[in-house]
Amino acid sequence: MKKELSRRGAETQKVKDFFFYVGELESEECFCGRNKQSGKALCFKCFRDLPFDMRNGLYQQIGNGFEAAYDAAVKYLEAVNG
Ligand SMILES: [Zn+2]
Repeated sequence: MKKELSRRGAETQKVKDFFFYVGELESEECFCGRNKQSGKALCFKCFRDLPFDMRNGLYQQIGNGFEAAYDAAVKYLEAVNG
């Protein structure tokens, strides 16, 4: 089947974003620099510092809400931890 090329730029960005978030999940280093478990979005301390509803967002799948939840969590933690 022939691929739709007109939206290629946007699709490429989506793919890049997808791999960015997959990489963050699989990494053993949290964005804060501490060690974390591969498969978890954040280290234990960052996760513990999040409000309940933000923690729940991180259980969503990539492509199904995880990206926004992760971005919000990182912004929140950066604001809280200065
Ligand atoms: Zn952390």
